[in-house]
Amino acid sequence: MLAERIGSSQLAEMAALGAILEGGLGARDLPRVWALVAPQAAAAGELEARVTVQAGPASRPVVAIAVHGVLALVCQRCLEPVRWPVDVDVALTVVSDEAGTRELADPFDSVLLDAEGMLHLRDAVEDEILAVLPLAPLHADLGECRASSMAGPEPGPAAQVHRPFADLGALLGRRDRQGGQ
Ligand SMILES: [Zn+2]
Repeated sequence: MLAERIGSSQLAEMAALGAILEGGLGARDLPRVWALVAPQAAAAGELEARVTVQAGPASRPVVAIAVHGVLALVCQRCLEPVRWPVDVDVALTVVSDEAGTRELADPFDSVLLDAEGMLHLRDAVEDEILAVLPLAPLHADLGECRASSMAGPEPGPAAQVHRPFADLGALLGRRDRQGGQ
């Protein structure tokens, strides 16, 4: 279980040591990720997280976040669970204010401390997981997608093209029956 928040002084100590936090991450402990998990899935999935804290440029701590595993998301075609691989590998420089962000070569790879100097570690990890998840997950294998197996073959263009002639055939059929009487 990852610490929810880490104070800046503790973070500086961890950076000096090159501390590594490792462990399983439950989808239930990440409310925004949990909201995307298929409620009917037998297992929500498994995530392994590894967070390394190191000293970066200008003695700012750098938090390297790696998360690997799978999540049972909801297929947007059939609404059944679809196992989705999760692979996060980012290094975020910890900055104490927006001005600090502007000094970085890549401001997007940063994370801000809150007003009390706390790093919201679990939120940062959750943000990175959300960033790699698709907006509309779909079964890549149509054989696994219930929408395709339940709907059956879609009418092809040929069926639509021949519709007027089918009506004509019905018309001729009526004439034939009338003629035969
Ligand atoms: Zn599907």
